Amino acid sequence: MTSFKTYNFKGKKAIVRVDFNVPLAKENFEITDDKRMQAALPTINKILSDGGSIILLSHLGRPKNGPDDSYSLSHLTEHLQKITNTKVLFADDCIGAKAEKMASNLSAGEILLLENVRFYAEETKGDDSFAEKLANLGDCFVNDAFGTAHRAHASTTQIAKFFPNNKMCGLLMEAEINSAKKVMEESIRPFTAIVGGAKVSDKVLIVENLMSKADHIIIGGGMAYTFKKALGGDIGKSLCENDRISTCRKILSNAEKMGVKIHLPQDSIVADSFSATAATRVSESDQIDSGWMGLDIGPKASEKFSRVIADSKTILWNGPMGVFEMPPFEEGTKTVANAVAEATKNGAYSLIGGGDSAAAAKKFNVDLQISHVSTGGGALLEFFEGKILPGIAAIER
Ligand code: AMP
Repeated sequence: MTSFKTYNFKGKKAIVRVDFNVPLAKENFEITDDKRMQAALPTINKILSDGGSIILLSHLGRPKNGPDDSYSLSHLTEHLQKITNTKVLFADDCIGAKAEKMASNLSAGEILLLENVRFYAEETKGDDSFAEKLANLGDCFVNDAFGTAHRAHASTTQIAKFFPNNKMCGLLMEAEINSAKKVMEESIRPFTAIVGGAKVSDKVLIVENLMSKADHIIIGGGMAYTFKKALGGDIGKSLCENDRISTCRKILSNAEKMGVKIHLPQDSIVADSFSATAATRVSESDQIDSGWMGLDIGPKASEKFSRVIADSKTILWNGPMGVFEMPPFEEGTKTVANAVAEATKNGAYSLIGGGDSAAAAKKFNVDLQISHVSTGGGALLEFFEGKILPGIAAIER
């Protein structure tokens, strides 16, 4: 595999696949969070400072039927120009005569942003001839889109084969891979995985795969109640996936056999409705009255989880401990976020991944105190599920 850091981009037109799938305000298409654009800057800056030019490929959202202004990357041009301090040209089609002409006229030090690759159905189908048309625009290929590395799409995966000796991972992609490997393959013990969020079904594979790696698995959020029910608890009208009860039992018994400690929340903040103005009280998580639902972990659980985290040397966190978007149910996630930050300060390596946990870390002002906050949601989850990510495999091949 070619090394991005040592590759000399002087005089080259580099096709860079980025993940500029940023949130836009509905009224005026203003970017409400530019984290993904900022994350690509080290790669962009290195190519420009070598004396190269850049052709940027990205998707934005999930357009269904071809071009649609609400998913146009043109809304990003001005901001990109500002944060790169570089002239940014925009082509309103990612292939075709106009894109080809603009790419061939591109001068060193310039950036050409191409329109949303998902305006073509061929992108998500992983179409080879579409990938070839994209590939023909430049001299080399850099994949810096970790967020879409789990998709075998034309601009993330198929395109790489047209650059057998000139394909590489960008700096963001490299940082993401290194961080995920540090946790999965080189973890210093004790290794604690914190898994939360709404559903057991979304996290079964990751919990199963972590079983052979982690010493402790902390389970919070809505998914904890299916486990509580599997243990015979009363969970009122808390989230429950009845078809996953046997899976939960299997996970608990495997954990015992493998010496992995699974920590479920002893108590919960329960509410009489799913609302920020609901009546609330503290309840044991396995004795929740009917008509009430667990929407956050309780104080005993927060304390216990914090102690486990404090004793850890490697920490992976995916999924909030409760409905942290509503103030009455944010305390558990906030406490865990602070515990992860504190453990990191004391020498632990911490990785937070998945949109919601990253948003929670930011909300509680600990994002800068974490070793690595991943830009990948689905991609990171699939990595931790033990799957091969096609976008990375295509570069390594
Ligand atoms: P996920 O995308 O699976 O990580 O789930 C994140 C979502 O789970 C967040 O929007 C939380 O509000 C929600 N969530 C966390 N805990 C609970 C709970 N106890 N009951 C219902 N939803 C929850």
